[in-house]
Amino acid sequence: MSSPRLRPPNRLYDAYLIDLDGTVYRGERLLPGAGETLQRLRGMGRRLVFLTNEAARRREDFVEKLAGMGVRADREEILSSTMALVTFLNETLPGGRLFVIGASSLHRELAEAGFELSEAPGRIQAVIASNDYEFDYRKLRIAYEAIREGAALYATNPDRTVPLASGGEAPDTGPIIAAIEAASNHPLDAMVGKPSGAMAKAALRLAGVPVAGCLLVGDNLETDIRMGVENGIPTALVLGGVTSASALKVASIQPDFVLGSLIDLIAPGSDWEAQERLPGGQGAQA
Ligand SMILES: [Mg+2]
Repeated sequence: MSSPRLRPPNRLYDAYLIDLDGTVYRGERLLPGAGETLQRLRGMGRRLVFLTNEAARRREDFVEKLAGMGVRADREEILSSTMALVTFLNETLPGGRLFVIGASSLHRELAEAGFELSEAPGRIQAVIASNDYEFDYRKLRIAYEAIREGAALYATNPDRTVPLASGGEAPDTGPIIAAIEAASNHPLDAMVGKPSGAMAKAALRLAGVPVAGCLLVGDNLETDIRMGVENGIPTALVLGGVTSASALKVASIQPDFVLGSLIDLIAPGSDWEAQERLPGGQGAQA
């Protein structure tokens, strides 16, 4: 039986929008039961969309990483903040000149998408803030000068920290945004990853089913659960990632459901066998 603080859903959804880091895996380690649960949902004909605010990898890299853990994912099922950023920039600043603070793969993706990367403050039209393990004073100064000359400030994600495979967390994009905002006295102009409406819309488009048939599953109240709440998508929080049971208790944002792990999406003792035989399901017969 689940502990009293858990509140798993008592039905299946047509589509599951599932956060990756802290929900499916932690760093390089698959979380207990995640692989079996995803396989079972897939076997029951449920649509899966994987969401990530990590901008340091390409879709293929996520597919490969999951495959290495024995989890099948198709390229078209992955939605990253990098994809949301490219879509956003194509709409607002096509072919624009960018100063990118972020991983080398983010630089590459933006260059390949037709944007010019520049470190000359007078040429830069937008500063892109993302997690960058080599963030330093030189980059902060270029961002500061570019924004003073009129550049916009965009970010891939607002996360304060990223969970580490070894346990604990490390600084993510949030503190980098804060440093640039503090220096330039210019607030962030747009954020495109979770919990933005742009990311929600893109996720629902990939899911391809009405919003009430979707369940958004994640470990972060400020990104995953907030995105669901603000966009009318039912939500389930997985404890043990970046959110503890005690933090949840006092949080202003509350999920519809609370899980100990992904296994709780298919709770034992429920009438799952009957549900698996419903149209849309193709699971095992009793
Ligand atoms: Mg997460």
